[in-house]
Amino acid sequence: MLRPDCFAERLSGVSLDELSACGIRGIIVDLDNTLVGYGQDHLAEADEAWIRSARARGFGIVLVSNNFTGRVGRIGEILGVPAISSALKPLPRGFLQALRVLGTPKAATIVVGDQLFTDVLGAKFCGLRSILTEPIVAHDWLGTRVLRFLERVLLGRKPAAPREP
Ligand SMILES: [Mg+2]
Repeated sequence: MLRPDCFAERLSGVSLDELSACGIRGIIVDLDNTLVGYGQDHLAEADEAWIRSARARGFGIVLVSNNFTGRVGRIGEILGVPAISSALKPLPRGFLQALRVLGTPKAATIVVGDQLFTDVLGAKFCGLRSILTEPIVAHDWLGTRVLRFLERVLLGRKPAAPREP
C-alpha cells in the first residue's frame, strides 16, 4: 500500500512522454513540497513550465491539497488549473472529486506528491497510480515531520536537504 509506482526527484523531472506512453491523461498534483515549498507561494520556473507544457499537451491537471488556506486556490489560478483544498488525504474524497473534475478514468490518472502517507496511500485507496517526489524544502508542518520519520525508515530515505525552490 505504501509503494509508489515511480520516484522522481521533483515534479518537473516527471517525463510527460512516459506518462503519455503509459496512457495517462489526468494528473493529480499535490501542492506543498511538491509544486511549491511548504507554506510558500513561489513557483519554480521549471515546475510552472512543466504544468504549462502538460496542459498544452492536453493533460488534465488538478491540484489536491490538505492545506486549507486561500493559497491553494491562488496558485491554481496562477497556473490556470482547478484546485481542491482541505482534501483530507489519504481519504478518498479529494481524489474522487479530482477524478470528476478531470473526467478521466482511474487507469488514465496518476497522483504526483511528496508524501507516502497522504499522496501515495491515498492514491492506492482509490486505485490510482502514483509518483513520489522528493520534498522541495526540509521544512514541514509538525504532523508531517513525524510521518517523514516513518517514510525514512520505510524507504531508507535520507533526511531531505534544503534546496532552491
Ligand atoms: Mg506535500
